[in-house]
Amino acid sequence: MSERPRLSFDLDVDICVVGAGLAGLTVALEAARLGASVAVLEGRRVGWNASGHHLGTVMPGYGLAVGDLIARVGFDDARELWSLSMQGAEYVRATASEELIPGIAMSEGALEVSNVEAGDQLISRLQMLGEDFETEVEGWQVDRVREELKTDRYFHGVYYPKAFQIDGRKYVHGLAALARRAGARIFEDTPVVSIDPSGIRKRIVTPSARLRASHIVLAGNIHLGAPLRRLSETLLPVWRYAAVTAPLGGRLADVMTFQGSVTDTDGIDHFRIVDGDRLMWSSPETTWSARPQRFAPAIARRIRTIFPRLGQVEIAETWSGAVGETVHGMPQIGQLRRGLWVASGFGRQGLNTSAIAGQLIARSILRRDERWRLFSPFELVWAGGPTGRVAGHLVGMWGRGASAAAGALARYREKAQSRERIREARLIEANRQAGTRPPRRRPPPGRPYPERPYPDRPRPPANPGEGEGA
Ligand SMILES: Cc1cc2nc3c(=O)[nH]c(=O)nc-3n(C[C@H](O)[C@H](O)[C@H](O)COP(=O)(O)OP(=O)(O)OC[C@H]3O[C@@H](n4cnc5c(N)ncnc54)[C@H](O)[C@@H]3O)c2cc1C
Repeated sequence: MSERPRLSFDLDVDICVVGAGLAGLTVALEAARLGASVAVLEGRRVGWNASGHHLGTVMPGYGLAVGDLIARVGFDDARELWSLSMQGAEYVRATASEELIPGIAMSEGALEVSNVEAGDQLISRLQMLGEDFETEVEGWQVDRVREELKTDRYFHGVYYPKAFQIDGRKYVHGLAALARRAGARIFEDTPVVSIDPSGIRKRIVTPSARLRASHIVLAGNIHLGAPLRRLSETLLPVWRYAAVTAPLGGRLADVMTFQGSVTDTDGIDHFRIVDGDRLMWSSPETTWSARPQRFAPAIARRIRTIFPRLGQVEIAETWSGAVGETVHGMPQIGQLRRGLWVASGFGRQGLNTSAIAGQLIARSILRRDERWRLFSPFELVWAGGPTGRVAGHLVGMWGRGASAAAGALARYREKAQSRERIREARLIEANRQAGTRPPRRRPPPGRPYPERPYPDRPRPPANPGEGEGA
């Protein structure tokens, strides 16, 4: 019998988790370790989307810059949130040990490089991260960055010696195996079509079975769909494309000696060396789903733009995954109403953040640990879903309810808007140089998308087993 069959019989459990990506599986693993009976319902297959198609870089932090985090929630809560993000990264390190997940291929260090000359900003960032947020970081001057990355595109850098990378596909399947070993039951090909979260025992309906559970955890990312469409509409779906080159031989060492992950401060490129002499590279983004193979030439051009000395590179494989971005850049971790939980919106930094979600939710349900409330100020904000309805009724139920004072929110929005404008200009320039069409960006916080936000978004595949990126 398959290890992860389709659910075809009714079931009564303590916790029902919807979605078997990084988030759902981490909740399941932690809850099962704490003694709960857990069923994970996955509409397709474990890790078919982003969770099985990422680059495996594990760093502290969130999609929201640390300065904006302080402006939003104040210094003390920002410090606690940052500390949680470091704990999330350490959780992944402990779980992704060679003993627990063989072949995980862990390697150390990540470098965040600046696309512009901004030495003074670097110093204040280093001070903040190093002194105020107790994160091990090193500032690299331009010469040091260019010694390791032979390109004039990058200036200063922040080196995170404690960041690391792992084999992403092995990790998600390893999590599933650990969760099963801890007692969680995982059912694939079992989409949740509706839920009734009222009452103490909640009801979950799938095509061939019904479940009852005291707690439901919604970890479906952008594909959640029918069970709570208004929640899906608080996420902007972004498809990210990635590739690995054919072996580049000695040419690669001539342009790059840095062995960890490289990201730029605008979130445009993200790459690292794999198998000794190949580049794994993630670059273009779209807000519609497309065949990843279509982007192979664009990724090759992007590599050449950054490392002209490499010359032509052959792309061996391409893939994609869809991430859910929130308007404020922070993940959605919390309780919507008694016994109904959400773990989504992890954006491009899903490894440490989904680990936080898994631990906080499981520990709140089973150990009354209430630290998830630190995420409460980040409301569920409509991200421009197709029907244009606001997730207003959920906002009121969101945790402790009270958001930061209106003044702080306004300042935060203003800063976020100007940061987004700068990033957008750089993204457009990067796309112009690489010859790719710029993706539609999310609107500044508080401003919705115009009508028909996804004009060329294709219909979902008829067969739920087929999808982008798999
Ligand atoms: C190219 C790329 C590179 C990335 N690189 C990194 C990186 O280096 N480091 C990092 O930290 N992050 C990275 N990310 C981001 C990271 O992969 C995501 O944030 C993370 O995987 C999101 O996990 P998830 O569990 O929320 O979502 P998903 O992986 O989408 O899982 C959700 C699951 O829920 C299921 N589901 C949805 N609705 C239902 C339903 N109604 N019934 C049953 N099942 C349902 C879906 O089928 C899906 O399997 C990258 C992403 C991409 C695309």
